[in-house]
Amino acid sequence: MTERFDVAVVGAGPAGIAAALRAAELGASVVLIERADHVGGTCVNTGCVPTRALAKAARLMREIRAAGAYGIRVSDPELDWSATATLVRERVGLVRESKADLDRLEKAGVDVRLSTTAEFTDADTPRLRDDSAPPPPPRSPPRR
Ligand SMILES: Cc1cc2nc3c(=O)[nH]c(=O)nc-3n(C[C@H](O)[C@H](O)[C@H](O)COP(=O)(O)OP(=O)(O)OC[C@H]3O[C@@H](n4cnc5c(N)ncnc54)[C@H](O)[C@@H]3O)c2cc1C
Repeated sequence: MTERFDVAVVGAGPAGIAAALRAAELGASVVLIERADHVGGTCVNTGCVPTRALAKAARLMREIRAAGAYGIRVSDPELDWSATATLVRERVGLVRESKADLDRLEKAGVDVRLSTTAEFTDADTPRLRDDSAPPPPPRSPPRR
């Protein structure tokens, strides 16, 4: 099925979100295509936000290990990775919630397609692939 929009934006990171909102503000019909199942892009989901939390955990570990040199006696710190990973996921969730990007896009009338990969068939035509469906099971090797 072919659908027509004035503007198709690929990627719902900060750049794509800003472009889509601005185009909608100027009166264009806009589709925003994102292969992940959430908006926000690298920064919120896998870049700035999670790395800040991980970097803080690493800094704390280093400081605690160095405490003895300053006359502070502490026992050897241990990393509880599952607690750290939970904290990272919570931080990402909080930032996603506070930015409310999906809400803003929908209120602006942008048609957001999540779990969808854009592949260009020519310079002007993206073809959309639905990534929400599970991939077909691998075919078993032919019997000899
Ligand atoms: C580990 C790490 C830490 C970082 N820390 C900082 C920091 O502290 N401060 C800072 O300012 N910047 C930081 N950055 C950089 C920041 O994340 C990027 O500058 C920012 O995300 C770029 O925004 P963008 O919208 O251009 O791209 P992105 O945020 O990468 O968004 C691109 C989106 O496009 C989607 N996409 C790509 N191809 C397709 C396709 N064919 N079809 C559908 N969707 C597609 C992707 O899934 C993604 O969601 C960090 C980056 C990383 C990796």
